[in-house]
Amino acid sequence: MANLSLQHLDKIYDNKVQAVFDFNLDVKDGEFIVLVGPSGCGKSTTLRMVAGLEDITKGHLIIDGKDVTQMPPKNRDIAMVFQNYALYGHMSVYENMAFSLTLAKEDKNVIHRKVLAAAEILGLTDQLNKKPRQLSGGQRQRVAMGRAIVRNPKVFLFDEPLSNLDAKLRGSTRREIMLLHKRLNATILYVTHDQTEALTLADRIVCMSMGHVQQIGTPLELYDTPANIFVASFIGLPPMNFFDVTVNADGTLSNAEFTVQLSQEEKALLSSYVGKEIVLGVRPENIVPGEAVKANVINVENLGQNTLVHCHIGNKRVTAKFRDWCEYQTGADILVDFKTKHFFDKETTKAIR
Ligand code: ADP
Repeated sequence: MANLSLQHLDKIYDNKVQAVFDFNLDVKDGEFIVLVGPSGCGKSTTLRMVAGLEDITKGHLIIDGKDVTQMPPKNRDIAMVFQNYALYGHMSVYENMAFSLTLAKEDKNVIHRKVLAAAEILGLTDQLNKKPRQLSGGQRQRVAMGRAIVRNPKVFLFDEPLSNLDAKLRGSTRREIMLLHKRLNATILYVTHDQTEALTLADRIVCMSMGHVQQIGTPLELYDTPANIFVASFIGLPPMNFFDVTVNADGTLSNAEFTVQLSQEEKALLSSYVGKEIVLGVRPENIVPGEAVKANVINVENLGQNTLVHCHIGNKRVTAKFRDWCEYQTGADILVDFKTKHFFDKETTKAIR
């Protein structure tokens, strides 16, 4: 396995579209990094630059201390798993998994040992003689991973590996990838648009928007201390609720619909914003039954352990996540409080720290 350093990477395509701007990341040996962001934000381009499938316009890529920026893909010792599996239909599972080693003229006994070992890890031992079309989507995805594992690469790259699977399989395959990472202790770069995958899989998340890195940190850091409104709204489901509010000299926040009291700590944090408008962010689970803010119920979704209460606060649509089972009629007025609050500068959209 290996460490990896992406230094000031830019990608400008031939049509002059700049897909990636000044991407910087140091990946430690054995680390699981997830690149997450909406479609078109430059995740795949970044991954493909690491793989060597796209030229790096500017910057350097270092693997284990060696500059591989100009090196062809086959010499980089990297294995990539794609969302469409890219399996050979006419070959058996065994042959698919053995393919790269056969191509490299590896000894037959060594190939056999490696394929069996990978099949064992992936629970494919009984499927080795089958053709890909005889397998489920989840099994095909595992064959694609097996093909990467047998090569024992320095770095694994995953490009949306779960997006062709149905919801249930996505969950179970996600857990398999997690175990696989633990077992192989592999250095992984993983691309997804799904924030749940990012939160559950990553040691660290790189959140991107429009070609720019927005924040790099552990899942908890991105969830608890998002760097800006983009990260705050992208990470977390249902997403954070946002309100335009004024910071008042009396230690409150207010708008036309509500006034809420700030703690001493929050007052200190916002002292330079008195008299100004900021953006208040509140996660659904931090809107709790209370007394300060009037909300009008649109509808409720009972999920068992908790209830999503969709409501209007003024004319703003808001989602609260209450604990336990709640029954409210559409149109009912309820009172809520905001617990943990996030504050953002209205102009820069950056978190106020
Ligand atoms: P993501 O993986 O986050 O969905 P991509 O890296 O695929 O995003 O794309 C980032 C941007 O680069 C998009 O605007 C996309 O249209 C553009 N792009 C991707 N591939 C090419 C290409 N081969 N030529 C020109 N533009 C491209």
